Amino acid sequence: MNAHLSIAEKLTLAVRSVIPAEELQHIALHEPRFHGNEWAYVKECIDTNWVSSTGSYVNRFEQMLAEFTGIPHAVAVVNGTAALHICLKLSGVSTNDEVLMPTLSFVATANAVSYVGAIPHFVDSDRRTLGIDAVKLMDYLKEISDVRGSMIFNKRTGRRIKAVIPMHTFGHPVDLDALKEVCDHYHLTMIEDAAESLGSYYKGVHTGHQGLMSAFSFNGNKIITTGGGGAILTHNAKLAEYARHLTTTAKVPHKWEYYHDEIGYNYRMPNINAALGCAQLEQLPRFIQAKRSLADQYKLVFKDIQGVEFFEEAPYARSNYWLNVVLLHPEYADQRDELLNLSNARGVMTRPSWNPLHTLPMYAQAPKMDLSVAEELNGRIINIPSSVYDNAISI
Ligand SMILES: *Cc1c(COP(=O)(O)O)cnc(C)c1O
Repeated sequence: MNAHLSIAEKLTLAVRSVIPAEELQHIALHEPRFHGNEWAYVKECIDTNWVSSTGSYVNRFEQMLAEFTGIPHAVAVVNGTAALHICLKLSGVSTNDEVLMPTLSFVATANAVSYVGAIPHFVDSDRRTLGIDAVKLMDYLKEISDVRGSMIFNKRTGRRIKAVIPMHTFGHPVDLDALKEVCDHYHLTMIEDAAESLGSYYKGVHTGHQGLMSAFSFNGNKIITTGGGGAILTHNAKLAEYARHLTTTAKVPHKWEYYHDEIGYNYRMPNINAALGCAQLEQLPRFIQAKRSLADQYKLVFKDIQGVEFFEEAPYARSNYWLNVVLLHPEYADQRDELLNLSNARGVMTRPSWNPLHTLPMYAQAPKMDLSVAEELNGRIINIPSSVYDNAISI
């Protein structure tokens, strides 16, 4: 490759070199693909008038999710944020509790904590996974916590620390065993934000198994989509049953009575969205294969480009490579905006990571540990085009 080209130019050319020729007109960051039974299933909903909050596709979608992940109970809801909200509520997180979570996450993780009146407490990242650094968290809790029986309190705020929400960043599984140790040691409930990690495995086990409950998302940009949608997955049958009740306005089933036994939520996934979801899940193994193959090609082309590093899965992980990441080397971090400008101007959609949650106005006062790794990583993360390209599979 030409030595005189800037990193921005090299990155743009590298991405274009792995995208199939017929797709080069418009290279999105992540586009959904509807080449399966989507149209047939959605049409059936309309033809039969079963479009709304009950219908056979909802049950079928839940069964398919349970089968695919190996997590026995699934409850389909309107979006991933709602799934997180219900996971937190059913895990007993409530007013004035603190919940540990990575500052490097989408805002929904923190918002869901706020919905139950609790307070996000931000944690630093591990360079190897981009997720929570469990070792740093263990040391930090040693310093700031006060253990009383099976409860732990933040010495600085006096509030109880109740739970931790690991997030599998861009599909890359966080080190769950290390985090489980922290949870066991400090009596913390783990709730997994697995919104980005459908099809990602930690030591051979699908993500979402370790948490008491886990939240998945099927938003338009995720690995499969239901338009908008999410799901709560759990090993606990009682919690699943309760989640189903609470997300169906807590209505007690009856032929005609409208009797609700508590304040519930209108959070269940409509049948028409679940129909889309069933068709998408049928294609998930193929989507994962295409994404991993795209990642392999990126690995090759970025090997020769100085100044950027293609982010790879940890040795114990099998990632879905939902959104591919390149990390700018620290000495080139000041070229990030130039790189974003140039690549987008040349029709290669690239995006920076989220602004760290502790820098947003509503969370600026929230408790946090030293977040230097997350802050430093954040300035260097660039997401590059990651849609499913069918013809990438055979390469
Ligand atoms: C997508 C996502 C969610 C949930 O998003 P919805 O748009 O509400 O489905 C939650 N957390 C993370 C990390 C996400 O990427």
